[in-house]
Amino acid sequence: MASVTAYRQGVTAPVDGFKLSSNENPFDPLPEVVEQVRAAMQFNRYANADMQPLRGQLAARFGVSDAQVHIAPGSVSILYQLVHATCEPGDEVIFAWPSFEAYPALGLAPGAVPIAISLTGDQHHDLEAMLDAVTERTRVILLCTPNNPTGTVIRRDAFDSFMSRVPKDVLVVLDEAYREFVTDADAVLGESVLAEHPQLILLRTFSKAYGLAGLRIGYAVGDERILNAARAVGIPLAMTETSRVAAEASLAAEPQLLDRINELAVRREALSVGLRELGFEVTPSEANFVWLPLGDRSQAFTDTLAEDGLIVRPFGNFGVRISVGEPESIPRIIAAASRFSAAQ
Ligand SMILES: *Cc1c(COP(=O)(O)O)cnc(C)c1O
Repeated sequence: MASVTAYRQGVTAPVDGFKLSSNENPFDPLPEVVEQVRAAMQFNRYANADMQPLRGQLAARFGVSDAQVHIAPGSVSILYQLVHATCEPGDEVIFAWPSFEAYPALGLAPGAVPIAISLTGDQHHDLEAMLDAVTERTRVILLCTPNNPTGTVIRRDAFDSFMSRVPKDVLVVLDEAYREFVTDADAVLGESVLAEHPQLILLRTFSKAYGLAGLRIGYAVGDERILNAARAVGIPLAMTETSRVAAEASLAAEPQLLDRINELAVRREALSVGLRELGFEVTPSEANFVWLPLGDRSQAFTDTLAEDGLIVRPFGNFGVRISVGEPESIPRIIAAASRFSAAQ
């Protein structure tokens, strides 16, 4: 276990800089959300574990029963619960790579083996190779769409074909942390396919589009028995009323949040276009970040941006992920990227 490095958080930025390394929402919390959280300061009590009425509201959106919704302190904790509930030592968890940096360590505690399958040349999940990697020890397959860090989505037709061939006793988790940013009409959307596949669990979060990363609240939707197993291994009393109230207030404020999502998409396109004009390859993104497959220049590019207080995320020798942040950060990134090009 000591050989696996712990999840590393994005570095904080200097005062005059920008933290663009954790895909956080750059907007301040909405005033109505802050107000409702302030009014719910009864933290001498534990939260009600049933998380109502939030749970019922989410169930209604997905057209499922309340038991088919599982709310937890962040969708990452649900990933841990699902792997814990399904894996014994030597069992296998398959995921794409590069993908979410929390995936490789998920199976550590139960002794499961991480099986990382390289993305295709155009930065998509290689679903054929993932199917080929299935053995009788495979318990879980994680699909991340849009994929963090590349921003690419799994297409509906590719997903359908994948699901028709994956063994029925393998749990498939669709990690849709960036679902709200998706505009591609061909992308698979969990809500459209959930009913067809009892082995499928959707993961959503209030951390990204809803801007509640620091309050820790995410949820899963899917089969009741699978979610009961996840609940059984979850840490009791881990939820807070504050996060529930903030999530409910955020659902109620969705029109304003949608405006912000649209604004982030506009900034993302400005950033992508600006970088492409400098000659950089920028993977088309359906999320709130962009991906530059810079290969062995990734660390040098990251260092050049850091000199100007721009904190971005390098992924080994694969590339660099830049979160879409404050509008002022964009010309600064372009200028720093231009200096990087000039120095090559
Ligand atoms: C950010 C992120 C999460 C979110 O996790 P929370 O625990 O809900 O904050 C989950 N999956 C992916 C792929 C992410 O990028």
